[in-house]
Amino acid sequence: MTPFIYDALPSHVVFGVGSIDQLPEEIARLGATRALVLSTPEQRDSAADIAQRLGARAAGVFDRAVMHVPIEIAKLARDEAQRLGADCCVAIGGGSTTGLAKAIALVSDLPILAIPTTYAGSEMTPIWGLTEAGVKRTGRDLRVLPRTVIYDPALTVTIPAQLTATSGMNAIAHCVEALYAKEANPVISLIAEEGIRAFAQSLPTAVREPRNLEARSLALYGAWLAGVSLGAVGMALHHKLCHTLGGSFNLPHAETHTVVLPHAVSYNASAAPDAMARVARALGAETAAGGLYRLAVSIGAPVSLASLGMRQEDLDRAADIATQNPYYNPRPVTREGIRRLLDDAFHGREP
Ligand code: NAD
Repeated sequence: MTPFIYDALPSHVVFGVGSIDQLPEEIARLGATRALVLSTPEQRDSAADIAQRLGARAAGVFDRAVMHVPIEIAKLARDEAQRLGADCCVAIGGGSTTGLAKAIALVSDLPILAIPTTYAGSEMTPIWGLTEAGVKRTGRDLRVLPRTVIYDPALTVTIPAQLTATSGMNAIAHCVEALYAKEANPVISLIAEEGIRAFAQSLPTAVREPRNLEARSLALYGAWLAGVSLGAVGMALHHKLCHTLGGSFNLPHAETHTVVLPHAVSYNASAAPDAMARVARALGAETAAGGLYRLAVSIGAPVSLASLGMRQEDLDRAADIATQNPYYNPRPVTREGIRRLLDDAFHGREP
């Protein structure tokens, strides 16, 4: 057996349809009496509902969370938390809202209670991100890891079909890269493989029948496992490429993950055969890359960078940026190999 190091992250998870009803007890359990509720403008009504459930323990609502946590918004939210004398943040929403809560916790130590409503998985990681002058900085800090996470599948039935598909594929990407990560270990590999299986079995139904609570529950369970995988071990080529494409070419986050994943996996296939066998087994497919591509097609997710607005003339620059700094990957990263990978992803060729 390959030697390994395993770090467990502390978390308190409340999972199940209707678990949002346990919010008052969970806030009391944190000892909080003045919670600041966070959301995006689109989920303002959900934030108001949360504030109502909290009653006297709600200090206020800040509903201006946006993608990638711009520093200006983070500063406004930090000021609001201070002005209200908040002693806790409650984040209801996807990775953007959880990210805003993390930006507050990073400078204030306020505990976070997260109520995820997408499959992004940020609620399970100590990773924060802040965007300043168009550049996103990320880091790891245990202070930003949510103390309590309430996963209520009933809150996910409103995720639009397209976001269900791409957010699910984004989560699968965390599991896949965890299986061949530098810090890969047997415990996280169990979790990651089960995460892929949960999504493979639930996403087609969740996309077709958004209100199917069985499918939504299995998908949210997969999202939890994917978040644990992302939080526990480092990532590799796939995440690096998506970071480059999102940051430098402004491509949408979850969609980019969806398109790139089968190609990054195909690139790494020969260098990580055990991980690939696990991915294929979890998908019930012959090969990992082919299975991921066909899953994306079957749930109506995008499969080409061209369809996301990437320009063919930018592929060379993308390959340059993605190969500028060395980083861990099971197969050595070459400029030529990445350029070919990007070409396949641009055209949406089946790997
Ligand atoms: P998001 O949070 O931006 O949500 C996308 C949109 O969907 C928003 O308008 C949101 O209000 C809406 N939405 C969310 N849940 C909904 C629901 N149930 N019904 C209807 N609409 C809903 O998108 P995301 O994909 O969840 O998160 C992406 C962001 O999270 C990125 O910035 C990414 O970098 C970050 N992220 C961070 C980590 C981490 O560990 N730090 C992990 C994963 C993602």
